[in-house]
Amino acid sequence: MLVSQILKTKSDDGVVTVAPGTTVAKAAEVLSARKIGAVVVSADGKHMAGIVSERDVVRELGRRGPTCLSDTVDSIMTARVVTCTRAERADDVLQKMTDGRFRHIPVVEGDEMVGLISIGDVVKARLAELAMEKDALEGMIKGF
Ligand code: AMP
Repeated sequence: MLVSQILKTKSDDGVVTVAPGTTVAKAAEVLSARKIGAVVVSADGKHMAGIVSERDVVRELGRRGPTCLSDTVDSIMTARVVTCTRAERADDVLQKMTDGRFRHIPVVEGDEMVGLISIGDVVKARLAELAMEKDALEGMIKGF
């Protein structure tokens, strides 16, 4: 299974982004309203400055308390974002996520972002694939 196939199973809403000057409070509002776990920080919606996940917000709240909510996202984001391409295999992307201990990965083409997948998207797609393989194998064994 390729990343491109996983992207096709997602609603084509594009990637949710916030501008670098956005406050942490506003980013938390976006995460909550969109029911997502991470938001890409980008000035133009295509080029990434970083990524902010719910973990970054909780970490800063735990460290510094609610004062962090009025800071801007660029002060708490991860700037070195690990990405993947449409042509990569889901298993390899899962490995990147496991090794890097993150659950979100933007999909890029050249230097532009074309999508974002979460560990939940990858696991869901792999489970569907495994179920299909199981049915096919059962069919072969039973002689269908
Ligand atoms: P997550 O598990 O995705 O909620 O993120 C855990 C931590 O990894 C947070 O500090 C994020 O900013 C960071 N992070 C999330 N996605 C990525 C990514 N694709 N590349 C690098 N860091 C990331």
